[in-house]
Amino acid sequence: MASARFTPRRRNALIAVWLVASAVGFILVESHPLITSAIQNFGSVFAAAIAVVSIRRRPAPHRRAWGLVVASLVCWAIGDIIWSAFDLFNGERPSVSVADIFYLAGYPFLALGLIRMAKLRSKYRPARGLALDAIAMTGAAAMATWYYLVVPAVEGVAGLEKIVWASYPLADVALVAALTMLAFAPGKRGMPTVLIGSGLLLMLVLDVGFAVLPRFGGESWLDLLDVFYPTCNILIALALLHRNASELIEPVPLIFHRIHPARVAFLGVAMFTPPVMTAIQYAQGTRTGAPLLFGSTLGLGGVVYLRLAGLVREHERSQDQLSILASHDALTGLPNRKLLTDRIEHAVTRTTRTDEVVAVLYLDLDRFKAVNDTRGHEAGDQLLIETARRLTTCVREGDTVARIGGDEFAILCEDLDSRGTMNMIADRVVAAIAEPFTVGDGVAVVSASAGLMFPARWTSDAESILRMADAAMYSAKDAGKDRWRVYDESMQAEENDRRTKEVALQQALSNNELELHYQPIVDATSHAIVSFEALVRWNRPGVGLVGPIDFIELAEETGLILPIGTWVLHRAAEQLDQWRQSFPDVELHMSINVSARQLDQASFIETVESALAKLQSPPASLTLEVTESVLLVDRDWAKRQLESLKSLGVMLAIDDFGTGYSALAYLSTFPFDIVKIDRAFMNNFDPGAGGATVVEAMISLSHALGLVVVAEGTEVVEQLDALAAIGCDLVQGYYFSKPLPVDEATAYLANHASNLAAQRAA
Ligand code: C2E
Ligand code: CA
Ligand code: CA
Repeated sequence: MASARFTPRRRNALIAVWLVASAVGFILVESHPLITSAIQNFGSVFAAAIAVVSIRRRPAPHRRAWGLVVASLVCWAIGDIIWSAFDLFNGERPSVSVADIFYLAGYPFLALGLIRMAKLRSKYRPARGLALDAIAMTGAAAMATWYYLVVPAVEGVAGLEKIVWASYPLADVALVAALTMLAFAPGKRGMPTVLIGSGLLLMLVLDVGFAVLPRFGGESWLDLLDVFYPTCNILIALALLHRNASELIEPVPLIFHRIHPARVAFLGVAMFTPPVMTAIQYAQGTRTGAPLLFGSTLGLGGVVYLRLAGLVREHERSQDQLSILASHDALTGLPNRKLLTDRIEHAVTRTTRTDEVVAVLYLDLDRFKAVNDTRGHEAGDQLLIETARRLTTCVREGDTVARIGGDEFAILCEDLDSRGTMNMIADRVVAAIAEPFTVGDGVAVVSASAGLMFPARWTSDAESILRMADAAMYSAKDAGKDRWRVYDESMQAEENDRRTKEVALQQALSNNELELHYQPIVDATSHAIVSFEALVRWNRPGVGLVGPIDFIELAEETGLILPIGTWVLHRAAEQLDQWRQSFPDVELHMSINVSARQLDQASFIETVESALAKLQSPPASLTLEVTESVLLVDRDWAKRQLESLKSLGVMLAIDDFGTGYSALAYLSTFPFDIVKIDRAFMNNFDPGAGGATVVEAMISLSHALGLVVVAEGTEVVEQLDALAAIGCDLVQGYYFSKPLPVDEATAYLANHASNLAAQRAA
């Protein structure tokens, strides 16, 4: 929010305005010192205020480091106010005052804050190196400061004054430490770093000016320098408020490590400071004591040596990491496909000499994409890492668990005594994945489908072994997921079919091969038509009309369901408008099936919205049917999506009710309007006998919850009568009609409309 106000343009404008104000202060400092001090105070208080605001936007773990930097700005603002109070009330500025306490306190706060930030940033890398850099630079700076700033500054002064005056240059040494950390910590150096860095540099320049100028008779310049101090505060504050301010603090995972030449150069400068200073002193005729020279050279040289040795070690380590990276998956740390194929080939070649059994298990997570889509990639990553952990616990030490890519894993087991052992391992694997996962702040339930392959001795080609295991995995998926299958030859043929089908399906939409059939949903007692359910068909060239059972699942796996679903939605909505226009007397509805993949998509709401925008009929004449299983993976997400859909005005139906796991009472927490009782209940629905009780209970509970009930699969008149008798609202099924192509559906509707007209006339 606050960052929105500080767009780069506004920020630059603010800096420009501030520089102009400083210039005004600069000009007026002699004639109107009060105006100048008002400008200064405004600057430092403003900086402190926006810095305080910036804390609120930081996540809790960052607040401490952030707070320290902000504290320094607040200290300086307080110092400024006290300082100008002397002007207002006293007329005379003391050489040492309470203001100095606040000014001086600001430095360590700033340095500690920046050091902390740098440390957080180097979370993934030993911070020791960074600390040594800072020690080397600070040591050199401290030496130079001591000789050139502190010693001369306190010449001839005593007591409190001496302490305070000596403290400022030493506080600057803390700034050098902070600057070093800022420059050398790993990570990006974008605008926030530039802003803070320039604030610190300016402050250093001003401080050095303050210390040096009086020695050359430049006392009168000090007030002029003073004018520019708040500029430092504002630069620092703007950095804290910057949109990318988190670059100052967020850890960067660094795997590759490059040693920047500047870093080595700085270390060199630090190391040569003592001898160079000694040489200068020697030339000037002043001498430093030999012990001090000796000590400082040794100290700084030692630190730099340690640092360089560390750098060499770091470099070696990153070289090692590189080679691990080439053969392992970065997320889970498991071997990657390449290493796995090497090991498979090795293992199979070895078995030609022994009697041991080798097995490859290919595994794919079912519904992983749903977790990724609804919970975000971080949750998806968590799930993959946990999957890797669970898989590793299912096998023995010498076996290989590898990540093939995405949500696919493979396991190579060697030295097995029999195939039975491997079957047990496969059972264990599938069971391990079926356990609920904790991701983010919730629970996700997924399952695994796996294919098992026992390579024959003559098949040492790892790629084809993996392909066969993959085919077996698909066959496990086809058989209902959450299970494993052993490869047999027919699977490869199936797999090939699947591949060609997938390619063909990809073109189905653009080739206009999809069509909708419509099945009437009628009133159980009056038999009046209430709605049509749109059911998709694929007119596959060379094959004929393919039903959804044979391609919807493939479309879901490949993601093709998204464009297909959108097409269905628009086509069905269009048809509804046409029918409503032709038959205004029938208050017709349209039911459309929505797949889990569609509902998982956040953008699905907009898809429906855009279909509604074109629809002339009221939104409530559209019913979206979702099947029970969508509520399984992530209840909260499903609920939110359904509520958003509901708010668009459409009706929602729960499809295939009773086949899954949900109880009606639990369903009532979702905004459904309609329950469709699965046709499985019609099969053992024995009219007349007590078999109707279950259905009857479902109907009365649904009614109690305010839901309309549709019974699916009504095939015979006895079913219809029994359903009407127990209060079912609507029925759908072959008794009335199969799903019809559009012209037949139109004829059905025309027939119904004329009956209706005849009834009204009579
Ligand atoms: P569903 O939503 O349960 O659709 C009803 C299915 O039951 C239809 O099969 C229909 O032909 C069949 N049916 C209707 N009355 C009877 C009956 O009296 N007896 C029997 N035995 N069956 C009956 P269909 O058209 O093969 O659709 C199968 C499934 O495919 C649908 O089940 C639905 O889940 C899915 N589907 C169809 N069209 C779409 C679509 O456009 N998008 C999505 N995502 N899924 C669709
Ligand atoms: Ca349906
Ligand atoms: Ca159904």
